[in-house]
Amino acid sequence: MTRSSYSMLSVEEALEVTLAQTKPLAPEHRSLAMVRGAILAADIAAQEPLPPFPASTMDGYAVVAADGPGDYPLVGEVSAGALAEFSVEPGTVAYITTGAPLPAGADAVVMVEETERLEMGAGAPLVRIKERLQAGTNVRPIGIDVQAGQTVLAAGERLDAAEVGLLATAGFVDIPVFPRPKVAVLSTGDELVEPGEPLGPGQIRDSNRAMLVAAIYAAGGEPIDLGISGDTQEALEARVQDGLARADILLTSGGVSMGELDLVKPLLEHAGTVHFGRVRMKPGKPVTFATADVEGGRRLVFGLPGNPVSSLVTFYLFVVPALRKMAGWKEPGLRQVQARLAQPLPLDAYRPEYHRATLRWDDGQACFVASSTGIQASSRLLSMRTANALLALPQREGVLAAGECVEALLIGEI
Ligand code: AMP
Ligand code: MG
Repeated sequence: MTRSSYSMLSVEEALEVTLAQTKPLAPEHRSLAMVRGAILAADIAAQEPLPPFPASTMDGYAVVAADGPGDYPLVGEVSAGALAEFSVEPGTVAYITTGAPLPAGADAVVMVEETERLEMGAGAPLVRIKERLQAGTNVRPIGIDVQAGQTVLAAGERLDAAEVGLLATAGFVDIPVFPRPKVAVLSTGDELVEPGEPLGPGQIRDSNRAMLVAAIYAAGGEPIDLGISGDTQEALEARVQDGLARADILLTSGGVSMGELDLVKPLLEHAGTVHFGRVRMKPGKPVTFATADVEGGRRLVFGLPGNPVSSLVTFYLFVVPALRKMAGWKEPGLRQVQARLAQPLPLDAYRPEYHRATLRWDDGQACFVASSTGIQASSRLLSMRTANALLALPQREGVLAAGECVEALLIGEI
């Protein structure tokens, strides 16, 4: 039997090696409409206070608080977006809407429910104020929400809906963010046909490419489809060079095991530096990681195993953290929680296993409970269907009993 010349790293070592080779991409500017999900590359400070004027929080009447309850003439109206051209002298009131600037002279707003409009015939209408209130009541002073110069967002933060709202508030429309890494995907194998094709003898459909493209989108990357390469040195080399030229990260699937047509490792040795070629894990042992320096800079290359489950598991464990680090994430690792096993699980004596499971919160036990997705064969993609976690099962003989707690790496929403 031929033995692999690559030493076997633990998953932790392999991840450390991967991240040590991974640098955040150079920041770029993107428009407000296009930043969702990106990581901010610089602090953002508010240029003006919010609100920029003392604003009413109610529909009601602007008053001089010291006047107290009584019947007062209405001197005008001010609604959001306009400035009053009058002032509210003691003994008068003005109608005001939510968000409108408080007129000069007024120092509080009585909400409309605590007032009554008195119909008096000719002359200025009278308004009955029924409530005594403190100066400042129902008024947002200048800068109460955001002060001028205040840092509203810090470099390294992920921009989701609220953060995009803050950028809009602060008037930023051209925002420094880390780019989405471009990730090229190449399937290798003479047996592979496109998903839309009928199967000839000995053929199977290429599941990995469509799957990895979807996974790249979900992880915040920008996929580049390199198609299928047959198992010849020339075909493979041309596609790999194309991928290196166009993408920050190149993923191949297949061709990394020990068969005669497993050409990916030698090719990567030739194109760059292979940092590891075997990892103690199940599934995914032959996963390979290399870097290559080309004109555009340093590229990361992952030779993912061909079996669909191995391909996707190694994508989550190594590619997702690398992609996140490139995209500016400060903590790029998969999130982990503890989960209790819903059923006993067999262990592997030789390799830690990443068992696919569905986590759900159990109210009664006040913890996450992990249910296995069933038979864990690395060719059986059904074992990843509905999985939102990889259970990191320890390498040891025997069985983990139902109810035992394990580390669960999150790969989907809970
Ligand atoms: P390999 O590492 O190339 O020997 O592939 C291992 C197994 O995964 C073989 O059974 C391949 O047919 C299968 N395989 C490789 N690539 C793909 C793919 N893109 N889609 C589905 N199965 C694949
Ligand atoms: Mg193959």
